[in-house]
Amino acid sequence: MTSTSQLTQSLKVAARRLGFELVGTCPAVTPTGFHHFSQWLEAGYAGEMHYLEDRKQAYQSPQSVHPETMSLLMLGMNYQSTVPAQTPIGFGRIARYAWGNVDYHDLIHERLRLLKTEALNLFSEAGLKHATARGVVDTAPLLEREFAQLAGLGWAAKNTMLINRDQGSWFFIAALLVNIELEYDEPFTANHCGTCTACLDACPTNAFPAAGVLDATKCFSYLTIEHRGAIPVELRDLMGEWILGCDICQEVCPWNRKAPISVEAQFNPIEGQNPIELRPLFSLTDEQFRQRFRHTPLWRPKRRGILRNAAMVLGNQPSDENLPALNLGLDDVEPLVRGASAWALGKHRSQSAKDFLMQRLMLEQDAEVRAEIQMALALS
Ligand code: SF4
Ligand code: SF4
Repeated sequence: MTSTSQLTQSLKVAARRLGFELVGTCPAVTPTGFHHFSQWLEAGYAGEMHYLEDRKQAYQSPQSVHPETMSLLMLGMNYQSTVPAQTPIGFGRIARYAWGNVDYHDLIHERLRLLKTEALNLFSEAGLKHATARGVVDTAPLLEREFAQLAGLGWAAKNTMLINRDQGSWFFIAALLVNIELEYDEPFTANHCGTCTACLDACPTNAFPAAGVLDATKCFSYLTIEHRGAIPVELRDLMGEWILGCDICQEVCPWNRKAPISVEAQFNPIEGQNPIELRPLFSLTDEQFRQRFRHTPLWRPKRRGILRNAAMVLGNQPSDENLPALNLGLDDVEPLVRGASAWALGKHRSQSAKDFLMQRLMLEQDAEVRAEIQMALALS
């Protein structure tokens, strides 16, 4: 009969073989962070991520993710590939996790599927015929960071990321939930942020109302991906070069200075992602956009979200070279893109930009876009 300890070790070996650098175990307890999570939702910090509120109660128990869960195998997969390249005029930045040719959900789900098969084989060999397992990444109602901390993987840092002393914070968190008792790791109880406040100080929008608390409605990781409407006017100038996500509060973290490079080649930047050229995006049809980005994280905000973001970035780079692309954006079928392009043209403060805006105003029917054009004309 295989002991619980042997079973746990075999499971960890399998997880590491499948590319999870960080592996730890913890029991399926009621998360103590649920109260904070509730308060965070009540404060409105989740913005339009209503699915969090809709499933709020489920976060109270891992059993709502997988019935009869007794243990969680918490996993971390490093995605750091290289350093960000310079961003010339006409280009934008993508957060590092999205540089590769794969959506990490797809990659990790496939690894979790293989891990689940191995786990069930191991359990079966151990005579645990009733064993079940479920692998999750990101989308399940699970307070992943808390369970990862309970499994000894690291601490919940002031920038709200989980930091591991060896890996830094450039890793995805995933979990395998099982209805079997395992041998558990010691929780990570230390917090090595100390007196450092580099991440809080560096955030361009002051998105941290307190250390370890993120107001997503001010965070570009939320605004460029999850948020469906216009970027709030007061945050547009601060967006800088980010068209998908933002890495600033991780880049400044001293624990990431020596963070290792991932062995997973699929996280290496594909051509044109680090950085990404923005002007040609305005000429892409829906189908061309789908073909280029369908299997990458840029698909989530869809063409309209990416063009909205691209217009913001081009507005923050006032150069005549950006005008033709923004003029295309001003004629786009999507009001969201037209409004963003209007704002960006207003930032250019040139006669050409003003002419484009005046011409569009004569045709424009959408009230919100008209308001954007009028605001842009007032600026220019
Ligand atoms: Fe601020 Fe960027 Fe970090 Fe969001 S990701 S909290 S915008 S530094
Ligand atoms: Fe903690 Fe400093 Fe890193 Fe922020 S930058 S997460 S405070 S160590």
